[in-house]
Amino acid sequence: MKILLATSEVYPYSKTGGLADMVAALAKTLARQGHEVGVVTPLYGSIRENYPEIKKMEWVLELPLDWHQIQGGVYYLNVDKGLTYYFIEQEEFFDRPGIYQHEGKDYPDNPERFIFFSKAVAHLAQFLPWRPDLVHVHDWQTALVPLLLKHSQGIGLLDRSIPTCLTIHNLAYQGVSPAKIFALTNLPWVYFSPASTEFYGNFNFLKSGIVFADRLTTVSPAYAKEIMSAEYGANLNGVLSQRSNVLSGILNGADYEVWNTSDNPALQYPYTQRNMAVGKAQNKELLQQTMGLKRNRKIPLFANIGRMADQKGMDIMIPVMEDMLAGDIQFICLGNGSDRYEGAARELQKRFPHKVGLFVGYNAELAHQITAGSDFFLMPSRYEPCGLNQMYSLRYGTLPIVRATGGLKDTVIDLDESNDGANGFKFTTYASQDLARTMIRALSVYYSAAVFRNMRKNAMQADFSWEQTARHYEEVYKAALQGAGFVGKESA
Ligand code: ADP
Repeated sequence: MKILLATSEVYPYSKTGGLADMVAALAKTLARQGHEVGVVTPLYGSIRENYPEIKKMEWVLELPLDWHQIQGGVYYLNVDKGLTYYFIEQEEFFDRPGIYQHEGKDYPDNPERFIFFSKAVAHLAQFLPWRPDLVHVHDWQTALVPLLLKHSQGIGLLDRSIPTCLTIHNLAYQGVSPAKIFALTNLPWVYFSPASTEFYGNFNFLKSGIVFADRLTTVSPAYAKEIMSAEYGANLNGVLSQRSNVLSGILNGADYEVWNTSDNPALQYPYTQRNMAVGKAQNKELLQQTMGLKRNRKIPLFANIGRMADQKGMDIMIPVMEDMLAGDIQFICLGNGSDRYEGAARELQKRFPHKVGLFVGYNAELAHQITAGSDFFLMPSRYEPCGLNQMYSLRYGTLPIVRATGGLKDTVIDLDESNDGANGFKFTTYASQDLARTMIRALSVYYSAAVFRNMRKNAMQADFSWEQTARHYEEVYKAALQGAGFVGKESA
């Protein structure tokens, strides 16, 4: 198959979260499985500086945003056999310090930026000489592409049908914008109706993708079910339920070429399952030292890495830490996001300066070191479409403590579920007491050497490699192509 992926962020060129990791690994794996793959992404500020091998194409984009014509360029990089990245250049929109925001504030012109980007994606889908069979878009930023392509086809501007697949990585972010923004799409206003892109009087990018993509996926089976319920559906559960016949939940994989403990430039003490106890203890002591904590491999060390957003459960975690830190434990936190949670984490660190290590900001190397050096990884998320951090911590022999929701429910096995096969701890109710109780359960395991050893072994053995995940996407692509009358036509 010839597949064009479109994303607003992709590792290693740009990243704020799991979306970047997922698209990079999916693209790489599909190419290795013999498909021809292109990835379209914006050319953000520092990308050209960091990757001077990226080349400019002789391709000038001139795309309308309402009555303005916006110019852009296309850069490219052949990364691997069958894998090419295309970077959309538009200085005013993309040459900025942040991807979506600066100093905690979303760029007010994000709708314009990503309408332009979506138009560029639709344009490439149509005119790339290798003629992609299918376009796979991700999240609200590119969710307009299916409608743009359908409309072009409908009015005879496309010489072929290009089916689309939309993956929802997080339903909470929908790109809801004032109705007047719809004018920037240059689409007829008939599409601004409750049956298509309108959402309580506003324009909703993600809804447009849900309505017009041929196939929908989300990043875990549990989340696929949850988003059709009122509790998790973020007011799109009705529209999603209407399309349940084309919606599937495919668990993300983990890229073990990046996230592994034996061959990792970020780790001073590599380890495998065989020497896990020693390796983890060495990494732990080094981490304690780096983060200004008491250096002692016996003290149980809890960690948390991630965006400090409402979703991630900081509001139930901070009060628990305030109580638990009275005991002999340590806590390391790496993340950034809302002022409220950054402030709460700073307060906690001030109160327990020798027990809490805090890094407010983004630091990929430190993320590896924390994942390797900790004993427990906390993910008390309110909701979690897939979650990658728990998969990474499993591979690093660090037991995840998670709320049983979305992908966390699908990937972590509690002692309650399997005595021999357990690899972490789960709780159900979103409440501080429940998290506290679960941490206490984890501590009792920490002090039962044999159980702890067995759980760590299970954790390191858990396998979420991408090969399987990519095969599931292949099935979805086939279904989309068949739906569009491509039966038997796709090149292998
Ligand atoms: P989400 O996509 O909701 O942010 P995931 O668990 O799926 O959550 O993915 C988060 C990814 O982002 C992981 O690779 C994690 O290590 C990384 N990450 C998040 N915040 C930071 C940070 N402050 N520093 C380094 N890496 C981070």
